[in-house]
Amino acid sequence: MSAKARRIDHSTRDNKPERVYSAHMSQEADPEASTAASPYAGRGAQMYPLLTAVQIARLSMHGRKLGVKKGEVLAEPGDRGRIFVVLSGSIEVVQPKLNEEALITVHTPGRFSGDVGTLRGIGGVVRLRVREDGEVLVIDEAHLRTIVQTDSELSELFMRAFILRRVNLITSQSSDVILLGSTHSAGTLRLQQFLTRNTYPFVNLDVDSDPSVRDLLERFHVKVEDIPVVVCRGSLVLKNPSNEEVASCLGMNQQIDDDRVRDVIVVGAGPAGLAAGVYAASEGLDALVLETGTPGGQAGSSSKIENYLGFPTGISGLALAARALVQAQKFGAEIRTAYSALRLSCDARPYAIGMANGHRVRARTVVIATGADYRQLDLENASRFLGTGIYYAATATEARRCGNAEVIVVGGGNSAGQAAVFLAGSCRMVHLLVRSDGLAESMSQYLVRRIADMPNITLRLRTEITALEGQDQLTRVIWRTGPDNASETHDIGHVFLMTGAQPCTNWLNSCIALNGKGFIRTGSDLRSEDLPASKWINARQPEFFETSVPGIFAVGDVRSGSVKRVAAAVGEGSACIQQVHRVLNE
Ligand SMILES: Cc1cc2nc3c(=O)[nH]c(=O)nc-3n(C[C@H](O)[C@H](O)[C@H](O)COP(=O)(O)OP(=O)(O)OC[C@H]3O[C@@H](n4cnc5c(N)ncnc54)[C@H](O)[C@@H]3O)c2cc1C
Repeated sequence: MSAKARRIDHSTRDNKPERVYSAHMSQEADPEASTAASPYAGRGAQMYPLLTAVQIARLSMHGRKLGVKKGEVLAEPGDRGRIFVVLSGSIEVVQPKLNEEALITVHTPGRFSGDVGTLRGIGGVVRLRVREDGEVLVIDEAHLRTIVQTDSELSELFMRAFILRRVNLITSQSSDVILLGSTHSAGTLRLQQFLTRNTYPFVNLDVDSDPSVRDLLERFHVKVEDIPVVVCRGSLVLKNPSNEEVASCLGMNQQIDDDRVRDVIVVGAGPAGLAAGVYAASEGLDALVLETGTPGGQAGSSSKIENYLGFPTGISGLALAARALVQAQKFGAEIRTAYSALRLSCDARPYAIGMANGHRVRARTVVIATGADYRQLDLENASRFLGTGIYYAATATEARRCGNAEVIVVGGGNSAGQAAVFLAGSCRMVHLLVRSDGLAESMSQYLVRRIADMPNITLRLRTEITALEGQDQLTRVIWRTGPDNASETHDIGHVFLMTGAQPCTNWLNSCIALNGKGFIRTGSDLRSEDLPASKWINARQPEFFETSVPGIFAVGDVRSGSVKRVAAAVGEGSACIQQVHRVLNE
């Protein structure tokens, strides 16, 4: 166990129940009870559906019957993939907390256990205990996947129930995973985002606003300087843990065979990588998806995507990512979260990818979908305002949010100039903030002229943002300006960052041809010298999404010339799988 991690000795605890852990303790066994206070009230029948005799008969072909006795624990949080269909007797589902447990529901004959984690083969989040003697049908993960892939009626019933159960657990804020943090700590925000985007239920306690947190810190023998602290499953205290440590503690990843050579490894689980994972797995390929952070990529940080086809009222990036993740898991793609690809070896096939934990995984083909990091402001709270005051695109969608307010555009290149001119069409005032002494060297002359001609664009040279203020929404910006670095405060709630994006290609080990800005060249974008330099030995030309190395593809924002949009990334990730098939058949 690392020095940062401590196991709690439960025997030395006093039994004083804390406010936050006692809320649900005395609920009685009503399957609908836990949903009553949640936004999912009324959806109890979908969350806990009753299987018909005909459906149970179909399920029996995929499981084995097991007699169970009152008090027997069938699963603990962290236990991996299998579901129980109750044939007789009953099973209670409880959420363990630090000192006690909350009853979530009771499964009676015809009802079944399980949630989205079961499909993914990762650790569950609840305890299942037999309440009355009886008999259950046990269905393991592999058979469950066969059912959801082949039986459309049961697939819809299971998938909807699993998703609703997880969402209900998250909204109930009831868990034995506790994050003790502060709104002023970047580490706290990172862990909140990590747990939330992985749809993991946790209790969030803030040292700044909740005096009881200090008592808890004392009880776990940790100091305020140690926060953020994660209490994992009520027994292990992790001080300022990395995402990898939290993922490992909570059993978020499958234990899988690193020696197996996959058909395809997809690196990056943004929209492009998730789409590639869904199409690869649904078409029968053995697919592994690796993700450094959390599935969803940049799109996951968008509060509302309004231009994605089929969602006329918009969809949050988080919801889109969560749906795509479940879809990929339904088809059997293995997704490892908090796993960074550190190094690509292109010299021999199968290709090998070295990971941050020292392991290597191998595959006959690789799809690179690692996207790009937009250059952010170097301020601790900047990421908090993504989509709620800080934007990376200036389209009609963002302009609508600003109305005719004053806005800031940061950057001295053409994209900043275009954004300033566009926003000046609807906003009262556009402040164009540039670090350098002028625009002549970085921006096209026609844009420089148009900016000079527009009365509601103010060019502020040698100016840099030094602080952002606001609660849920950005409300105030402080910048330093001019030769004497004077500090100015402005009540402005919209900042457009047009300072460029950095492709995530530094792990490629120089074996793939890149363009001058580090984006990956594919297909016809490859120059004649790129192929010999990468030792291209095939008679054929590279496929549209294929890089300078045969069988290695690039899709989405990381690809040179790609359209930096969700729909484009999804389209590229889906389409490239046909080319992967062609290469696998060579
Ligand atoms: C705040 C914001 C709002 C946006 N809003 C919209 C919008 O409304 N509409 C729209 O169409 N577009 C929008 N975009 C753009 C859109 O999100 C991107 O074009 C899209 O996400 C690109 O998808 P991608 O899969 O190619 O890359 P990304 O989304 O960048 O995903 C790449 C993934 O790869 C992972 N990764 C990187 N390196 C490694 C590694 N070495 N190992 C393993 N994993 C790695 C990253 O962690 C990331 O999850 C927005 C972007 C931002 C930042």
